[in-house]
Amino acid sequence: MSIKNNILLFQRELGAHGCRLVAVTKTHPPEMIMEAYDAGQRIFGENKAQEMTQKWEALPKDIEWHMIGHLQTNKVKYIAPYVSMIHAVDSLKLAEEINKQAARHARVIRCLLQLHIAEEESKFGLNQDELEALLKEAVNLPHIRIKGLMGMATLTSDEKQVEHEFNTIETLFKSLQKESHSQYEMTELSIGMSGDYKIALRHGSTLARIGSAIFGSR
Ligand SMILES: *Cc1c(COP(=O)(O)O)cnc(C)c1O
Repeated sequence: MSIKNNILLFQRELGAHGCRLVAVTKTHPPEMIMEAYDAGQRIFGENKAQEMTQKWEALPKDIEWHMIGHLQTNKVKYIAPYVSMIHAVDSLKLAEEINKQAARHARVIRCLLQLHIAEEESKFGLNQDELEALLKEAVNLPHIRIKGLMGMATLTSDEKQVEHEFNTIETLFKSLQKESHSQYEMTELSIGMSGDYKIALRHGSTLARIGSAIFGSR
């Protein structure tokens, strides 16, 4: 299968569920990104600020760059001029820094709050109370706009467990959707990777972050 074919297949499969593809290109060279671009893909996900910035500089400017990985506050300044969405906001400190750097560029940066749903301790993210507290604070930051939630399920072959974790984030997402607020809109649910996107599609994913199933192993 070529990258082009993979892109077209994923766009069709996700699109049938109202979900968009974030093509995850971390570690892959610009030539591979261009193959996906030529197939019509415009949203690309990276997890390192420096790597993403180098690719942004080298590649067409109508690409939407999504920062999907854990982001250190001291790296925000590198991506603030161009980043389209930051998926893994997990502290007020980070939200404030994004707000500050976005203001310097007269931008409003779209952000997702990361909910901790996996079993492992090592995965980043907020618990439900922390997330709701951060949401309340973040509405006072005019240069970020909270667009939804992001989560990473446990890496396991136990589908029931993944199902349970995605159900947890979907339930919170839907309950937040009911509270209308002028400073945020809960429209994006970023769940699903190569190994679990089919389950994520059943739980309302609107942005699936898929790398290896398109570009091969890293
Ligand atoms: C690498 C990565 C992905 C994509 O993982 P694949 O298994 O290659 O699809 C998704 N989300 C995040 C946060 C990642 O770092």
